Amino acid sequence: MQTQLYYLALIATLDRRLDELQEDVGELPDQIARARQSVAHHEARVKETQSIIEEIRTFRSTAHVTLQELRDREQRLSEQQFRVRNNREFDAITREIQNIRAERDRIEQELRNSVIKLENLEHLLQQQQEELQKAQQELAELEHALELLSSNQSEELQRLTQLRQELSSKVRPELLAEYERIRTFHRDAVVPVRRESCSGCYNRVTPQRLVEMRMYRDRLFLCEHCGRILYPEEQLPELEELSNV
Ligand SMILES: [Zn+2]
Repeated sequence: MQTQLYYLALIATLDRRLDELQEDVGELPDQIARARQSVAHHEARVKETQSIIEEIRTFRSTAHVTLQELRDREQRLSEQQFRVRNNREFDAITREIQNIRAERDRIEQELRNSVIKLENLEHLLQQQQEELQKAQQELAELEHALELLSSNQSEELQRLTQLRQELSSKVRPELLAEYERIRTFHRDAVVPVRRESCSGCYNRVTPQRLVEMRMYRDRLFLCEHCGRILYPEEQLPELEELSNV
């Protein structure tokens, strides 16, 4: 039967390893969330550009029909002009023809502009699609890294969690509660005494106290300065001992 302190020290060792595993995962979930936002942002930009290009293409495909209609109307009006009976009618048709020509000019100008616009937009779209691809690749890499880490860790994590449960059941509840309380202040809640000092805060531990610690091995001795649980260095359990529990 091992001492309560021994089990607590093992739990502390195990908790430090669990902390390490947690740190390995570290920033990854946050980075993945940011990468997802970035992908969504780039997708929206690509879609926007695509819809503008689509609009211009629709304009170009209908503009030719519109222009032909305008030319036909102009033709009909010119023929009509020969048959007018007075100046008033003549002037009215002239104005109408002028309006039609202005409209044709406007559309033709827009058609010419649309060539350059389309060229620029297609160039922009290509850039945006490359950026989107890069963002998607970054996201995939991060997700892969997390997946790899999780699958590597899952076995150890499961083993450690189970061990922790077994060890916890061997420690008196009030001692375990005390350990958990100290751990909210110090991640290393159980520390060895080295060179007659607490190795958590480096304050001195008197020789007399060390003697007591070795005598009363089922009692908890807290560092008077930092409040960590102390244990004599020679009783230090290693992580490897976990497999012998
Ligand atoms: Zn201390």
